[in-house]
Amino acid sequence: MPRPEVVFRTSAIIIRRYEYGEADRLLTLFTPDQGKIRVIAKGVRKPTAKMAGHLELYSKVNLLIRRGRDLHRIEQAEQVQPYQPQRESLIWFGYAAYLVELLDRFSEDEEPNPPLFGLLDIALNWLSAPDSDYALVARYYELRLLRLTGFEPSLFRCAVGQEEIEAQAQYFSPLDGGVVCPDHVRGHAAIPLSLNALKILRYAQTRDFDKVRALQISAPMHHLLERIMHSYIAHLLETRLKSADFLHLIERFREAPQIPPSP
Ligand SMILES: [Zn+2]
Repeated sequence: MPRPEVVFRTSAIIIRRYEYGEADRLLTLFTPDQGKIRVIAKGVRKPTAKMAGHLELYSKVNLLIRRGRDLHRIEQAEQVQPYQPQRESLIWFGYAAYLVELLDRFSEDEEPNPPLFGLLDIALNWLSAPDSDYALVARYYELRLLRLTGFEPSLFRCAVGQEEIEAQAQYFSPLDGGVVCPDHVRGHAAIPLSLNALKILRYAQTRDFDKVRALQISAPMHHLLERIMHSYIAHLLETRLKSADFLHLIERFREAPQIPPSP
């Protein structure tokens, strides 16, 4: 068997970052050709460290990495895409954290999936575009990620009877993995799905984001779509995603009526 190269270059998105020891950081990276890998950045928290500003969370970097038996080590780092110019935006961070956690939960260590890397890259870019509809980016990302990892929900055929779904109001059943017709619906977990909601989900599942981003979606519709996707994903993962709960919290904060400044 050929020995893997001792050092290699890769682009990567930094998906987790921990302080380690006196001056080091441990990073989890998502890379196009090696999937999720863990690395150490030695001495990066020293004031003189050259790499420090290049290893921001949720940014894209070019790296030179030395393979180690237990842990790979970053030798050089260059930031190529910070994604978010105003990194202090809490809501941007909340959504970026959610996209990354979803990818983390649906991928194994060192399991290459170049299209998944491309999806995260594109979604973080879209999240950073002016006037971005964060929730729409999240729904599109969820549908694509589920396809790329083999969990695409059934939206064109009844998930129980397998017959083609009529253009009418239906149910979404997280347990059965998609849309279920009124004849086959069972149990209490199915969510009533309006025809409009079904159309939006189908559109987002089959069109490019350049088309999908033009959709104007009302707040109640966003809530329904989010409930459907999060119920399905939660069912798949068996436990609710921590950052999805965090998003609910900050969305509520954002929707709270603003108190006018006193004169
Ligand atoms: Zn059916």
